[in-house]
Amino acid sequence: MRWAFAALVLCASGIAGGQPLLECRADFAFAPEAVDSFAKRAYEQRLDAYGADGRLDRDPALLARLRRLTASLREAADEERSYAAGVHWQVHTCRRCGENASAMAGGRLLLGEEFLSQLAPTDDELGYLLAHEMAHVLCEHTREFATVARYFADNGLHRDYRDLQQELDGSLPLQFRMEFMGEQQELEADRVGFFLGARAGFDPTAIARLLGKLEPAGSSSAMPSMHPSARKRLDQAASMLQAAREVGAQAEREHWLGGP
Ligand SMILES: [Zn+2]
Repeated sequence: MRWAFAALVLCASGIAGGQPLLECRADFAFAPEAVDSFAKRAYEQRLDAYGADGRLDRDPALLARLRRLTASLREAADEERSYAAGVHWQVHTCRRCGENASAMAGGRLLLGEEFLSQLAPTDDELGYLLAHEMAHVLCEHTREFATVARYFADNGLHRDYRDLQQELDGSLPLQFRMEFMGEQQELEADRVGFFLGARAGFDPTAIARLLGKLEPAGSSSAMPSMHPSARKRLDQAASMLQAAREVGAQAEREHWLGGP
């Protein structure tokens, strides 16, 4: 994915050249419909379970705020990547569900109320949090992850998506083998989210404050971790700050001129 970073940085100052900023890899193994229907079922099962015992969407003001910010990011994504226009974004919150923030294939976002309340994000910080989650969807990271996992799972090249995804969800050994991919996708979601957020008008300096809040101080776990270190994420954000500022300024000029 190094090429993606290079491409983003190179074209950030040259967006006048008309290059899209949100380009991601697209040559994946499985049909998007298979990935979407698996995610749809898993997402609906979670929503149904939370709805059944009163843990779903309990804070209307928070939900409205999340949906407003998502809508502004969606406009920016639609302008940058044709794939985005076909995504039907859904945003829900849950209470006492152990969720932080997650994005499932097809634009299905879920955020934990306690996580957000602890984070106490400004709109700019929350904008970048959502932009990061949306970037996972826009880059089809679920499909990409399963595509790569075929080489790390037994008989992976001959298995269908549902079968492989079930093993990915349940097998710790496979998750450990795939940690490198998770880390790479997190950094890509930061990069793409950074430009998406900047284009939507969020203050690019907010991403460093957000990452500072997200870092669980001194955390260590024996479980598989897909997240790169906060240092790595902060270093990447710092290296992209000027480019993100230029993207934001360009978007503002386009806005005043009535379009790109
Ligand atoms: Zn992520």
